[in-house]
Amino acid sequence: MKRVAILGSTGSIGQSTLEVLALHSEAFEVYALGAQRRDDLLLAQCLRFAPRLAVLSDAAAAQRLQTALRSHGSKTEVLQGDAAHVQVAQAVETDIVMAAIVGAAGLASSIAAARAGKRVLLANKESLVVAGELFMQAMQQGGGLLIPIDSEHSAILQSLPDERSHWRSSVRDITLTASGGPFRQADTSTLRDITPDQACAHPNWSMGRKISVDSATMMNKALEVIEAHHLFGMQPAQIQVLIHPQSIVHSMVGYHDGSVVAQLGMPDMRTPIAYGLSYPQRMTSGASWLDLARIGRLDFELPDPQRFPGLQLAYAALSMPMGACAVLNAANETAVEAFLQGRMRFTDIHRVNADTLNDVNLNAVRNLDGLLELDQQARQQAQSRINTLVP
Ligand code: NAD
Ligand code: MG
Repeated sequence: MKRVAILGSTGSIGQSTLEVLALHSEAFEVYALGAQRRDDLLLAQCLRFAPRLAVLSDAAAAQRLQTALRSHGSKTEVLQGDAAHVQVAQAVETDIVMAAIVGAAGLASSIAAARAGKRVLLANKESLVVAGELFMQAMQQGGGLLIPIDSEHSAILQSLPDERSHWRSSVRDITLTASGGPFRQADTSTLRDITPDQACAHPNWSMGRKISVDSATMMNKALEVIEAHHLFGMQPAQIQVLIHPQSIVHSMVGYHDGSVVAQLGMPDMRTPIAYGLSYPQRMTSGASWLDLARIGRLDFELPDPQRFPGLQLAYAALSMPMGACAVLNAANETAVEAFLQGRMRFTDIHRVNADTLNDVNLNAVRNLDGLLELDQQARQQAQSRINTLVP
């Protein structure tokens, strides 16, 4: 029996993970569930999966959860505060950590899981964007196993040789596919008037609001380029992005002999989640089967740099000193939040990201504290830029 801790259990990835685990209760036990403040949903999850621990960052929500669990006679123990996520991630009882908190807020717990040698199922791509080198070092020192949950990176892992020492010598390049989001064909003059709900209406995937906006700007793919660089040790020039509106080919690996190996499937996060849980074996996920005859055609096109200027920022940040990717991520989190709150326009997201990346001073950063300080500076810088914008 493997014991699983799901951090971010009330989110889109967290809920999909519980759906997969419900199919395999003979092999996995839910040890801990964690979230920020949605005590109502966490209560329902606790009553169904009976974890040993439940964590909420918000103190009042944790108190409500505790009271409700007691009234149901539940034995689940409630912990509160950010440090409790870290505690659960590194607990000796935890075998597998699903790191599914959104944003840089997920870094502390995912790095704790890495240091503690856990099997880390990494949905939180921001951990690698903010602190890629340090995160990969922590994984190596901890001696655990890192499996990406992002569908593109899961596809790459599934398309690479099992023997990791062959990656560098056999691979020519990797291609991350992107759906192009809801505005792939929209008239670019209309983009400035896009509303948060329009940006969150993704054509193929149902996801949290932050990543949905990132998909609409293609900043999600920018973050994924940085993620792929760290996960697979590829140079930025070896990482291409191709728009594929059907989201069936989840990504591909090109080899020196001319072969291209890809992973295909329906756009359903339960497939990469099940792969991460059962690796190196396979198990059912609940996803429906791919019927290529019904889908009929698969299209590909290069991303238009005018429509998706954010993609280039990933390559720019990767060519800058350590810390630039953390700045880009912090700017983007701040900008997306301001857009979702109606404080600025959709097209301002790129402006804030590009200006913040330009303006923040990248002093030599070597450790996690330095990166977190830079993250805070970038958030302040982005916020002052946002304050100059008229919505
Ligand atoms: P979501 O917004 O649906 O859920 C986020 C979860 O994180 C919630 O459980 C929330 O309670 C928790 N959380 C937020 N802030 C927190 C904090 N400060 N402390 C503790 N918990 C906090 O997001 P999602 O779509 O499930 O995405 C989660 C992560 O997975 C993101 O990093 C995203 O980029 C990545 N990802 C998601 C998808 C997808 O299909 N949804 C695909 C690939 C990668
Ligand atoms: Mg992805």
